[in-house]
Amino acid sequence: MSVNRQIRLKSRPVGATTAANFDIVDGPMPAVVGAGVLRRTIYLSLDPYMRGRMSDAKSYAAPVNIGDVMVGHTVSQVIESSNPDFRAGDFVAGYDGWQQYAVSGGKELRKLDPHVVPISTALSVLGMPGITAYVGLMDIGKPQAGETVVVSAASGAVGSVVGQLAKVRGCRAVGIAGTEKKCRYVTDELGFDSCVNYKSGNLTAALKEACPNGVDVDFENVGGAVLSALLRLLNKGARVPLCGLISGYNATADEGGPNLRPLLVSRALIQGFIVSDHFDRFGAALAEMTPLVRSGRLKYREDIADGLEAAPDALIGLFEGRNFGKALVRVSPDPTR
Ligand code: NDP
Repeated sequence: MSVNRQIRLKSRPVGATTAANFDIVDGPMPAVVGAGVLRRTIYLSLDPYMRGRMSDAKSYAAPVNIGDVMVGHTVSQVIESSNPDFRAGDFVAGYDGWQQYAVSGGKELRKLDPHVVPISTALSVLGMPGITAYVGLMDIGKPQAGETVVVSAASGAVGSVVGQLAKVRGCRAVGIAGTEKKCRYVTDELGFDSCVNYKSGNLTAALKEACPNGVDVDFENVGGAVLSALLRLLNKGARVPLCGLISGYNATADEGGPNLRPLLVSRALIQGFIVSDHFDRFGAALAEMTPLVRSGRLKYREDIADGLEAAPDALIGLFEGRNFGKALVRVSPDPTR
């Protein structure tokens, strides 16, 4: 415990991220000063938004500066604490970034009880991606029983929760994913009614078949060709929670967006949202979803890479569809498993 290994941003990617954009550095161990909480990272969450933080293009959040530690949600164990709210051994969720250790006053930390649900769920189904699914679907999508809800990147952290919550609300849930294996998981294990592989054949025809009554909610995670195909199937009064546009995150030039005319014709509502504006919904989301996770009705899948050094490649994999489930890095052993 004499060094704190960190991964820092070395350069801004042009197009796809590469390993050369990162520096692996052994920094000094942080020390507890005043009322501080020192913790060891167990899990680091890897999320598509990180590509945006690596760029200095105008966005909804400030970029990571060159030379700074990459940001990210974490689950950690407290090693030492002079803050009376935390004791050594406690498990906490925080935002410590790509490093082995972190220290702070502890105000931003959320205590986790490993006896209720596995601690890693604080980064997936019961963390930022799960809340994103909940807010986007419930507050913007407003699904009604019998309606059809379609979600892209359906086997992933956000999409998997969207479809399962749609089923809980009595909707027809249709997923879109990039491989047959992911599609089988989405229907056979998560219980979606149908799933379309957007890489095989005619997407519009396959979506039409999967959505015989049209689309009432398009929970959009991808954009581009997938969004274009879906817009044509919107029913009158459809809602489009615009959550992500991952197909364009590595783009170096404007690719020409979808034709938005169907939105007009179908009087559809499209609304962009950023989950950090909706953290007041955290309590409601956890209250509804925690029992569903505990009972096994809301399933989740994790794709865990081992060791902090694996983080760059695992992040790159998100944009190639290599992750199958929520992308996590096990930075140190999980004593609860
Ligand atoms: P996932 O776990 O779903 O992983 C990303 C997946 O996106 C990949 O596995 C791949 O799945 C798919 N993908 C990657 N590149 C492309 C591409 N070019 N075209 C189509 N699909 C692609 O990630 P998350 O669930 O964490 O995130 C899903 C979306 O939600 C992202 O767009 C993200 O930015 C957004 N998001 C938005 C938030 C907000 O506040 N608005 C908060 C959190 C996430 P496949 O193999 O099926 O193609």
